Amino acid sequence: MSISLNKPRPKNIYISTNVSCNLRCIYCYEDKSSNKTFDLEKTKSRLNKILTKPSEQEFIINLHGGEPFLIFPQIKELCEWVWAQKYPCKVMFFATTNGTLIHGEIKDWISQNKNRFRLGLSLDGTPDMHNVNRSNSYDKIDLDFFIKTWPSQGIKMTISPKTIHNLAEGIMHIHGLGFKDIRCNFAEMVEWENDSVSILEDQLRKLSDFYLDNPGLKRSSIMHLNLIEILNTNSPIQKWCGIGEMNALDIESDNKYPCHLMFPSVCGKSKSDKSLSFDFNNIENLISEQCRECEFIRICPTCYGSNYIARGDFALRDMKLCQFTKCRIKIIAELEYNIILNNSNNLSSIPTDKRIYQLRMISALEKLIPLLH
Ligand code: SF4
Ligand code: SF4
Repeated sequence: MSISLNKPRPKNIYISTNVSCNLRCIYCYEDKSSNKTFDLEKTKSRLNKILTKPSEQEFIINLHGGEPFLIFPQIKELCEWVWAQKYPCKVMFFATTNGTLIHGEIKDWISQNKNRFRLGLSLDGTPDMHNVNRSNSYDKIDLDFFIKTWPSQGIKMTISPKTIHNLAEGIMHIHGLGFKDIRCNFAEMVEWENDSVSILEDQLRKLSDFYLDNPGLKRSSIMHLNLIEILNTNSPIQKWCGIGEMNALDIESDNKYPCHLMFPSVCGKSKSDKSLSFDFNNIENLISEQCRECEFIRICPTCYGSNYIARGDFALRDMKLCQFTKCRIKIIAELEYNIILNNSNNLSSIPTDKRIYQLRMISALEKLIPLLH
């Protein structure tokens, strides 16, 4: 009998708690008008069925708003009830928040439970960038609290057509505050100007210089793509995320969905219903004709749920974001080349695993560079 020493990956459960929000972010496409909240008793009973099964796995219960802390008493009751059940598995909670309500009693409770309830903060760059995107809310966030409470937790930074001009400054600002992991995404379902690709290129070059000067910093996700994947042409193309394999429970409709973007409150009832019969196990269903022949398909990230909401097809990617991805590949390839060049003088001091990585990267760059020019 073989024994696996690998710890099983945590299992995610998504619960829609409320759709209401106290902000009106310029890129938000969810309908915030309803004051409906989740049914506490029904949720407890659904969770009980999942969590009582003996399991070595850790569960992460993702609370999906709106802004979940608008209904803090219900959130607190749910968490304390779950923790009191002494389930045979570890249960963590996670919520993405706009941070504006994390003060006073809520902050105290979160502090007491910081090892079993993590918060991911949405922060869109400098005060000006954040305020233009996110309803003038920068000064309402206790940034110091977030940095000190979860120093390694990622920040969610959304880039909109109104902030792309200052993208580099925004990322440097967040690094300067002390956050270590900056996860950038481009706003979906918004109108991008024609010149936004050249603006992006200019901003990414500034960032590239910044990271070359600060090699100890973890690069923001916008400056990171696994370029080496382009060499793996013999292995099947992989899905970008766990869509179709998630426990995304919508308490209101009492249904399990392929991902939380498929909740009726997010994509509408008709699309939501249709998503239930889609086969996500067949990768062919998730690749459009347009992308099938593309050399970058293995390194081009996408959110299938956003594709479905915006264009009615999980496979149909946003072609403006396609240009952004190609621009990112080019600048990241140049950055990787410059890093290798900088290291070439002291090759003997580089550990073997890093040297092997560099050799693989050189092969990837040799393949990529002709495609990019
Ligand atoms: S979106 Fe563009 S870069 Fe990405 S796979 Fe499709 S064609 Fe290629
Ligand atoms: S489809 Fe998008 S939102 Fe859903 S799991 Fe995948 S990346 Fe996440």
